[in-house]
Amino acid sequence: MQKKYFDLVVVGGGQAGCAAALAGARGGLSVLLIEAAGALGGSAVNCLVTPFMPFSTKVTENGEEKTLALSQGIFSELHAAYKEDGFYGEASDTCNINEESMKLILDRKMREAGVTVLFHATLCGVAKDGRRVKSVSVATVGGVLEFEADTFIDATGDATLAAYSGVAFRLGRPADSLCQPMTLCFRLCNLDTEAVWKAHGEIQKLYKKFQDEGKIKNPRENVLIFNTRIPGILHFNTTRIVKHNPTDAFSVSEAEAMAREQVLEMYRFLKDNFDGCRNAKLMMSAASIGVRESRMIEARHVLTQEELVAGTHFPDGIAAGNYDIDIHSPDGGGTSHYYFPPGVYYTIPYRCLLPREFDNLLVAGRSVGATHEAQASIRIMPICVCMGEAAGTAAAMAKEAGVAASDVDTDALRAKLSANGAFVG
Ligand SMILES: Cc1cc2nc3c(=O)[nH]c(=O)nc-3n(C[C@H](O)[C@H](O)[C@H](O)COP(=O)(O)OP(=O)(O)OC[C@H]3O[C@@H](n4cnc5c(N)ncnc54)[C@H](O)[C@@H]3O)c2cc1C
Repeated sequence: MQKKYFDLVVVGGGQAGCAAALAGARGGLSVLLIEAAGALGGSAVNCLVTPFMPFSTKVTENGEEKTLALSQGIFSELHAAYKEDGFYGEASDTCNINEESMKLILDRKMREAGVTVLFHATLCGVAKDGRRVKSVSVATVGGVLEFEADTFIDATGDATLAAYSGVAFRLGRPADSLCQPMTLCFRLCNLDTEAVWKAHGEIQKLYKKFQDEGKIKNPRENVLIFNTRIPGILHFNTTRIVKHNPTDAFSVSEAEAMAREQVLEMYRFLKDNFDGCRNAKLMMSAASIGVRESRMIEARHVLTQEELVAGTHFPDGIAAGNYDIDIHSPDGGGTSHYYFPPGVYYTIPYRCLLPREFDNLLVAGRSVGATHEAQASIRIMPICVCMGEAAGTAAAMAKEAGVAASDVDTDALRAKLSANGAFVG
């Protein structure tokens, strides 16, 4: 008989959801992790989003300059495992990810912690009782299943559980609700990577020229290329689909098809014009288009750009960051950046994870309470992992104290996170 009740149900097995499930299970909870895809890892796996963006700053202690990692705890544990990567012989000191290893490592971590994982299960309904989420329904190949829990964590990246529950949210920039563009990442193989990097400047020049002449339709301002762990293969995070709505399935469907045309356009451009790409083959495009920005809940605190820039350290801070405020233009070319000076970082208050309407529902990951600008910094994977760890830890503490997740003592939460190796500022 399928179990129908868990202490904690986490919807979404991406960066935040996996950390939430691990923290909850290690805190003594029975945990169900529900994932629409067939593997854990979220955007990193489904959308080939790589590498981990920077998560440290320089600080001076006793006259000595040191590097301070702003994302620690479960992130450090997972990052160390990904770097070591004993599975496919591609150990790397960099932040590049081997998605296949990530999937396997996360499977094992969940098994060791006793998390029940349900793949190919898509959230399709919610039942409420006053200020409580009572149960969620998920569509599976065997039919619709319903699960009750004390606490629910929405780690879908789109705040889908929150939206289904009636939680208020914001979408995109205030003027026109446009979100940051979506990107379908892809990889080319059979490359002479040294020659490609040597020609990097030429690639950018010709791309711009072709764009001006109308031969390239992609509105992105340049060609964004990353190394991978595998010789002869480069990663391209360079398609750009603007003015599409990630919460409208028809709009996302159109975006996927448009992005595949941009992949072909870029492949031909590179193959036809650069020696290092003469023998190029399209190795793969991601299973899903990547969504940078989607719903962001109207949480009990909505984080702003001003708070980030001021390096605000909140009394209930549960994660920290200093990734640049990196806004890919929602309506065309260009990307704007605000870089934090060395030593300056902000924290994310626990209240950003708490919807106003419910007491046993938490949101973790890229859709917590933040403005369009603030989300452009906090969305990176290291920070999402830390927000997930905080949410799972809070769920475990709520159970122990016999209170709702919204009533967890935040001093105690911060102390617990620190004791477990997390950095809370
Ligand atoms: C093109 C692109 C490039 C990026 N580059 C980088 C980068 O280089 N470095 C970096 O650190 N960050 C990068 N980011 C940002 C980062 O990848 C995401 O913001 C981050 O992964 C979000 O984490 P999350 O846990 O909130 O969501 P995700 O990691 O996306 O996980 C959400 C999970 O929920 C599941 N899900 C969704 N809906 C449902 C449902 N209804 N039912 C069940 N399951 C569901 C999804 O399948 C997914 O597994 C990039 C993003 C994009 C789009």
